Amino acid sequence: MQLAMRQCCGGARARGNAFFTAIHVLGLWVAPRRERPEPMSFKHGRAFHWHWSGVRAAPTVVSMENPDKAPARHVCVLGAGIVGLATAWALRRAGHAVTVVDRASAGAGASSANGAQLSYAYVQPLADPSIWRQLPGLLLAPDSPLQLRPRLDPHQWAWALRFLAACRASVSERTTRRLLALAGESRAGFDAWLRETGAECDYSATGKLVLYAGEAGFAAARRQMALQARLGSVQAALSPAECVQVEPALAHYAPRVAGGIHTPGECAADCFKVCQALHAQLLAGGVRFVLGADIARLVVQGDRVTAVQTSQGVIEADAFVVSLGTGSPALVRPLGVALPVYPLKGYSITVPAPDATAGVPRVSVTDAARKVVFARVGERLRVAGMVELRGEDRRIAPERIASLVATARDVFPGGGDYGAAEPWAGLRPATPTGEPVTGVAAGGPRNLVLNTGHGALGFTLAFGSAGRVARLVSSQIRL
Ligand SMILES: Cc1cc2nc3c(=O)[nH]c(=O)nc-3n(C[C@H](O)[C@H](O)[C@H](O)COP(=O)(O)OP(=O)(O)OC[C@H]3O[C@@H](n4cnc5c(N)ncnc54)[C@H](O)[C@@H]3O)c2cc1C
Repeated sequence: MQLAMRQCCGGARARGNAFFTAIHVLGLWVAPRRERPEPMSFKHGRAFHWHWSGVRAAPTVVSMENPDKAPARHVCVLGAGIVGLATAWALRRAGHAVTVVDRASAGAGASSANGAQLSYAYVQPLADPSIWRQLPGLLLAPDSPLQLRPRLDPHQWAWALRFLAACRASVSERTTRRLLALAGESRAGFDAWLRETGAECDYSATGKLVLYAGEAGFAAARRQMALQARLGSVQAALSPAECVQVEPALAHYAPRVAGGIHTPGECAADCFKVCQALHAQLLAGGVRFVLGADIARLVVQGDRVTAVQTSQGVIEADAFVVSLGTGSPALVRPLGVALPVYPLKGYSITVPAPDATAGVPRVSVTDAARKVVFARVGERLRVAGMVELRGEDRRIAPERIASLVATARDVFPGGGDYGAAEPWAGLRPATPTGEPVTGVAAGGPRNLVLNTGHGALGFTLAFGSAGRVARLVSSQIRL
């Protein structure tokens, strides 16, 4: 199960809360020569033109800083979640021709109603030593946010064992460092996208407050804060009264907490709106979308993937990026690539919360003990949480939604119209360590790029790993 990755881009290494935390090929590889697509102008929606001439192009090593020298490739991005769409954006920006394939519509998977947090500083992985102390309570409590449904599924057991093996201080600290670096790149990428396009996505930069019920948890959080301070994070430990100063809607609940960690630079946005905006911008920029197409298998010749077989036909490309969320392992397994990604199910409710409602939080809030996050998205309050290991099960369990509503009412009694809450369940594509898999898998086809396994931080990290994939595709001579 060891997945050796050739990390992209000189291996920029990427690190919060323990819980929330393609081208086508020609048979004998007579690669096509094509006109370099014009750099995409999303503002003006210019489409590009390209053709095949059957003459192998001589690729050049380049960097994103000099995209004019990049070999123009046709990249097929598999998956139109936030990760696939951000990847398509970065690839198109780097001058590549892009096709995006998905069985559903853009942003319909785990990216549709997630917790909305752009949690750039709060990236501590779920795999943390503190899990050992919490595990008995988490597994035994009837309304526990963590539920394990043991199945006759070797992937579930293998993932769980690897997860437990990762619950060590050294692994957690290493993952935190890497995720922080990736999150920094992602913030830069998302901010640049937002500045350039002005997309309407209920974006806010009002900070994040993580509440700790007990002294032990708060003390551990302060230690994590000290570690992150050395890594450049700006955070402060607050008393309950100070928490209310930062977020007045906590006046009712704050007396019940030991304290909170405030990260003023954290942001939030509606991930689904970001996906919709990216879809529209990419279409305007000449990216081809093949939606409603089930991806069945990858066609391999020699050491390259030549095509992807879908329910809407075969699509050839020069390189393929796998961003299928929890659907990723099944696609690459037949190629001998063991991807340690397992679905961690979670739930959310979206509550109407007009601006005038005084009890609606303005700051993103996480209740660390209950493992629930709250974020204002426009005139709605998004409440998300829970982790269930039960395979590809997307059913919305009414009792879990009821529990989420009860928690939300308890923390923010005036937080919105809870009677009109919209329920949702989604599957986080999680690796045991919490670090996404971004790069070419050693031993796999050389033009097969993985960009998946972003777990609880896919929205936060999407633009960062997308940039790494684009730099990899633009710089690899032998992709
Ligand atoms: C409850 C909850 C709360 C969350 N909160 C946050 C948060 O606050 N902040 C944050 O950063 N992250 C959060 N996340 C995590 C984040 O939502 C995910 O990491 C992210 O959405 C993953 O994006 P993705 O593009 O990899 O996967 P997805 O969005 O699931 O996209 C994968 C796509 O692949 C397609 N697909 C799969 N298999 C096939 C196939 N065989 N053929 C064709 N198409 C296929 C699917 O249709 C889907 O569109 C949360 C997740 C959950 C569940």
